[in-house]
Amino acid sequence: MKRVFIKTYGCQMNERDSESVAHDLETNGYALVSDEKLADIVLLNTCSVREKAELKAIGKANQLLSQKRGQKNITLGILGCMAQNRGSELTNSVKGVDLIVGTQKFHRVSEYLDRISSDQSKETQPLISLDEEKGSQNKINQHLISDQKQVSSFVSIMQGCNMNCTFCIVPKTRGKERYREIHDICDEIKLLRDKGVREITLLGQIVNAYGRGVFKRIDEKSPFVQLLEKIHEIDGIERIRFTSPHPTSFGSDLIEAFVRLPKLCDYAHLPMQSGSNKVLKSMNRPYSIEKFLSIVQSLRSKNKNMRLSTDVIVGYPGESETDFQETLSAFKESAFEMAFIFKYSERSGTRAANLPDKIPQSIKEERNQILLKTLDKQSLESNIKLISSKLDVLVESRAKKGRGEYMGRTSCFRKVIFPAESHSIGKILPVEILEVSSTILKGKIV
Ligand code: SF4
Repeated sequence: MKRVFIKTYGCQMNERDSESVAHDLETNGYALVSDEKLADIVLLNTCSVREKAELKAIGKANQLLSQKRGQKNITLGILGCMAQNRGSELTNSVKGVDLIVGTQKFHRVSEYLDRISSDQSKETQPLISLDEEKGSQNKINQHLISDQKQVSSFVSIMQGCNMNCTFCIVPKTRGKERYREIHDICDEIKLLRDKGVREITLLGQIVNAYGRGVFKRIDEKSPFVQLLEKIHEIDGIERIRFTSPHPTSFGSDLIEAFVRLPKLCDYAHLPMQSGSNKVLKSMNRPYSIEKFLSIVQSLRSKNKNMRLSTDVIVGYPGESETDFQETLSAFKESAFEMAFIFKYSERSGTRAANLPDKIPQSIKEERNQILLKTLDKQSLESNIKLISSKLDVLVESRAKKGRGEYMGRTSCFRKVIFPAESHSIGKILPVEILEVSSTILKGKIV
């Protein structure tokens, strides 16, 4: 039996794709190993969001191939976004690669590996598969649930993105939006529930645009809200989250869902990117900062427990000091508790890469630090308000540090550490919050 090691770079979508590939391999007679040294086959599931991520994967691939040229004869596959982005050109930068598989062919990996091993005696060209495949979004639906109790699981509900943010390579690597059917998604979630999963995070590059233009709005509700309602009806699923949404698809029906549907967690990720209308326009983000702030205000006023996170890019081409001050002001007004703050880095193949007026690295660094400090302060202030409160915590696992301590999350996605027993995993328990930092809450079960 051939042993396979899968290394995943990048986002949660990639993690989810790798899990599905791993399931396909196991089902078809391959053994998964957690150490690349034990593997006959190494698959790199790659990320293209930043040039650096691609170079890292290419470096890794070449390191593995130099071992291959040495004593060990491994089969090497490059999958996912970089495979799609660079295509057959990868055979030049990674000489000796055996398999290149794009983002719509993950479900065919075991079939391709079978083909490669049956051809192994001959001198073969790498197998390259990058075409679009109708219905491929429906194939990312299998999970590897280990013996250990798994409490939370990701579910891909769509693939691709029809937006064209100027800084983003995703529409090129993942293609146009393709949606799964509601009943199919719910069937997958019921199977996860039967294996003990209590919390579901719905995944999509623009997750709340789910079904637009394909499935009908019913009673003023978008297909995404209809999907949330159907999942909400599934007994045994206690919590529902989703990522990553887009502000333009954050309609009043979705905001109301946070009030109507108790299983929909008190947490939303709301990518702002910039607080300047000029920069938003240049990024091709079709909303104004005023509209964005009105969504934040509605979410916070309708649900007092709501915690919000965001994505911000600092140092986008042409971002003046005034533009940055507008971002800082919107960041404070939104009082984000969590954030991913990126220093803009040029991505070849995107429209933004050709824009003039690049911002010096030192200014990007300075703006990044200002936002990070603001985030730390806001997050701490928000967490301090939770001291002495009793919060329902879904116990996920043993804490990485600390004897007898366990880790769980509140509905508002704060990490909580507290003493517990192993049988607590998978349960939702009331925890009194005793102390906090900007990133972690500590408490005791009450
Ligand atoms: S909406 Fe997200 S995935 Fe789509 S182009 Fe914009 S940043 Fe990229």
